[in-house]
Amino acid sequence: MLSGFLRLIPILVLAGIAGLIGEAFLADELGWLLAVFIIVLSLFIAYVNQSRLDVFVKGAGISHLSGFGGAWAEIFFKLQRIITGLRKDIEQIERQHKRFIEAFQASPNGIVMLDDQDQIEWCNAIAEQFLSIQFKRDVLQRIHYIVRRPEFVQYITARKYDEPVVLEKMGANASRILRLQAFPFSENRRLVLIQDITDLNKAEAMRRDFVANVSHEMRTPLTVMMGFLETVQTLDLPPEQNAQYLEMMMDQGKRMKNLVEDLLTLANLEANSQPAPLNSISMSYLMSLIKNDAYALSQGKHALNFNLNTPCNLLGEEREVLSAFSNLVSNAIRYTPEVGSVTVSWSVNSAGEGEFSVTDTGPGISSEHIPRLTERFYRVDRSRSRETGGTGLGLAIVKHVASRHQAQLVVESTLGKGSTFTLRFPPERIS
Ligand code: ATP
Ligand code: MG
Repeated sequence: MLSGFLRLIPILVLAGIAGLIGEAFLADELGWLLAVFIIVLSLFIAYVNQSRLDVFVKGAGISHLSGFGGAWAEIFFKLQRIITGLRKDIEQIERQHKRFIEAFQASPNGIVMLDDQDQIEWCNAIAEQFLSIQFKRDVLQRIHYIVRRPEFVQYITARKYDEPVVLEKMGANASRILRLQAFPFSENRRLVLIQDITDLNKAEAMRRDFVANVSHEMRTPLTVMMGFLETVQTLDLPPEQNAQYLEMMMDQGKRMKNLVEDLLTLANLEANSQPAPLNSISMSYLMSLIKNDAYALSQGKHALNFNLNTPCNLLGEEREVLSAFSNLVSNAIRYTPEVGSVTVSWSVNSAGEGEFSVTDTGPGISSEHIPRLTERFYRVDRSRSRETGGTGLGLAIVKHVASRHQAQLVVESTLGKGSTFTLRFPPERIS
C-alpha cells in the first residue's frame, strides 16, 4: 500500500515541475492543464498495464507480456523470464512423465498404483486386461470393488504384502493364472504388480507329472519282476516253469531298459537346442533298415508296402532320423490289428520338401487326442498300449527330432479307418 503511494511521488513531482514550467513560461491555466495532463497520462498508462497484467494473471492466454513505461517494462521483463523458465521446467517434467508412462506400458507385467484408500490412481494396459479394469471408467474406484475375488479383497485389505496372492482368471477361451503382489511406496500408496504365471504353472505341473509317470512306469515292471523272483525263491518249481518265469522276468527287464533308453534319448534331445548337423543320409539305405525292422515286428501279420518315390539324400543326424521313422512305423504296426495294412512312403513334393509318411488301416485316433500325442507318456488307450508294451515316449521323441531338423509332424486320422503320420522336411534338408 505504502510502496504504491511512493510510486506516485515521481508522477506528482513531474506533474508539479511541468505545472511550474508551464506557469512560468506560458500562462497560469496552461501550467495547470499540463500538470493534469501528465497525471492523467500516467494514470492511463498504469491502467493499461494493470489490465494486461490482470488478463495475464487470470490466465486468459497472453503468450507474451510486454509493457510500456519504465518500471512496468522492467517488471514485465522479469515476469516474462520467470514464465519462460517455468514453461521449460514443465515441458521437461511432462516429457519425463510421458517416458515413465511409456516404460510402464511396455512392461510385460500388469502395474496398478493405488492411493492410501486403495483407490486406483493409475494402471497400465496389461493390468486393464488382466483384471478387467477400464482405467477411464474405474479411476479413483477402490480396487476391491472391481476385483471382487475374496482372496484378493482379503489380501488388499489385510495390508500384509510379504507373499503374493494367486488368482485364476476365467477367460472366454482359456483360464489364466495370475500372481499379484503389492509393494508399499510413498505416502501409504501401493504398487500392485501382476504377473501371468500360466506357462510357469504348466511347466511345473508337467515336471511333477513327468516324475510321477517315470516312477509309475518303473514300478510296474519292477513289481512284476519281484513277484516272479519271490515265487522262484520260495517255491521249488519244475525247471520248465522256472525257465518260463526267468523269460518273463527278462521281458520286464527289457521293458525297463527300453524305458530308460527312451528317457535318455529324450533328455539328450531336450538338452540339445542346436539344429541337427547336415550329414548326408541315403534314403534308400534308411528305408531298407526300416523295412527289415518292420517285417520282424509284424511277423507276417500285416500287408506292408514300401514306396521310395524319390531316392535322394536327407541331411540330418542319422541316428535320430532312424529312431523317429522307426517309432512311426512301429506304432503303425503295433496299433493296427492283424490283416490290416501299413504303407511307408518317402517322396519329395513340388515345393521341394521331403515327406516321410506312414499310413495304416488301424483304429484311428479321435481328434481330441491328436494335439496331445506328442506329450511325454501320453497314450490314447492306456490299457491297450500297455498290452503292446508302449510307454508313450515314442511320439515325444519324434517331435524333438522333427524340431531339431526343422521338420513338421502332421497327423491325420479317422476313427475306425486309420491314420497317417507325416514328417515333412524343408527343402534345405534334401539333397
Ligand atoms: P512308445 O512309443 O514309447 O513305445 P507308445 O507307442 O504308446 O509308446 P507313442 O508312440 O508316443 O507312445 O504314441 C502315443 C499314443 O498314440 C499311443 O499310445 C497310441 O495310443 C497312439 N498312437 C500312436 N500311433 C498310432 C497309430 N498309428 N494308430 C493309432 N494310435 C496310435
Ligand atoms: Mg510308439
